Amino acid sequence: MAQGKPRLVIVGSGWAGFYISQHIDLSIYSPIIISPRRTSAYTPLLASAATGLFNFYLAEDSVRSKSRSLVKFIKANVLDVDFSSKSVHCAPAFEEDEVLSRQEFTVDYDILILAPGCEPNTFNTPGIRKQLFDLLEKASLPNVSDQHARDLLHIAIVGGGPTGIEITAELSDLCKSEIADLYPDVAKFMTISIYDVAKNILSAYDTKLHDYATQRLVDRGIDVATGTVIEEVGRDYLTIKGRGRNVSLVEKLDVLLNDKGLKRIQTDDRLRVFIYQSTPEGEKPTSIHPNVYALGDAADITHASLPTTAEVAVQKAKYLHDGVIAGKGPDHPGWTGQAAWLAWRSGSLMWNRNWRSRFAIVLTWALNKVFGSEIAKI
Ligand SMILES: Cc1cc2nc3c(=O)[nH]c(=O)nc-3n(C[C@H](O)[C@H](O)[C@H](O)COP(=O)(O)OP(=O)(O)OC[C@H]3O[C@@H](n4cnc5c(N)ncnc54)[C@H](O)[C@@H]3O)c2cc1C
Repeated sequence: MAQGKPRLVIVGSGWAGFYISQHIDLSIYSPIIISPRRTSAYTPLLASAATGLFNFYLAEDSVRSKSRSLVKFIKANVLDVDFSSKSVHCAPAFEEDEVLSRQEFTVDYDILILAPGCEPNTFNTPGIRKQLFDLLEKASLPNVSDQHARDLLHIAIVGGGPTGIEITAELSDLCKSEIADLYPDVAKFMTISIYDVAKNILSAYDTKLHDYATQRLVDRGIDVATGTVIEEVGRDYLTIKGRGRNVSLVEKLDVLLNDKGLKRIQTDDRLRVFIYQSTPEGEKPTSIHPNVYALGDAADITHASLPTTAEVAVQKAKYLHDGVIAGKGPDHPGWTGQAAWLAWRSGSLMWNRNWRSRFAIVLTWALNKVFGSEIAKI
């Protein structure tokens, strides 16, 4: 206990951990958030930021804030949890300082909330912009043939889930606007393919939506290669079962999030972490760890699996915080066309958690509209 208040340790500063840290009653709890990241990324905004729609700093929020200075932050990776002594074992997260990174320590908890996500910083989304413009410059060299330019400017998106589709649409917009203006000689060589092993893109959604999305992408000249088995992905190539193919820029967007083999922490429907014990039928949950909860992408409710999305992470965080499951939104019939575009773009605002950033995003959109995007200035 810190000053008579229970010490609430939150592992991870993503959607789930950040929500709890920003809403927990500081007069009752003494929260400590442990994460290698000082900020929390608005992941749904990364695709737009990656294609230059607004600056990356608008797609993240700082864990430390003046108004919630009682929330302590420790920049570290949690390596292990000792449930018997109620402590977490940590290593400082400073890659550039190896000596410091080896000076491990423990932090005691009264209540533990595990929200480390499924894979930190795997998607490397910020790299797209620079790579793309380097490729455009290469393709523009006077000694590069048309065929070589075509090979250089074939973009492959692996994964036809929401993230893959979003980045595809953003890249396609970029090709038709800024790239066409800035690189008139080579823009025509640019092609985009989206690969998915499933029969349809957006396969988790209803037929109407994936048919509509496929048609829209095909109309934009995008190669939608569903039912495609990718055997190997390298930095600048991928091998497709049955037909080898070389591409220049490969973005693995949904692959890890949708990885069926991902091992998630199992909880009951109150997000309490199960204790497993060996039984003749194998490992079985027999009881729960007192005061230990898990949520976000890292966790799943046994027999009631939910998708790994920011919405679910926040809903579970709200549930844990409020003690009640968040109500469902209105039963909207669904958007298409201009209305969908507007809803999607305004989504960028709603995902964001502070008004300063929302204002800056709107201002950037307006500036982009009038003066063009700053995409090439990197
Ligand atoms: C590019 C992209 C776009 C997306 N778009 C959408 C979308 O449009 N809609 C939607 O609903 N979802 C979207 N998602 C999915 C959504 O971002 C995740 O479901 C959500 O981030 C999960 O939240 P979380 O808190 O569980 O984990 P995360 O947000 O991943 O946060 C995990 C945190 O834990 C920290 N951490 C990791 N390991 C440790 C450790 N050992 N010790 C301490 N801290 C640790 C990490 O640094 C990070 O701060 C998108 C994801 C990506 C990558």
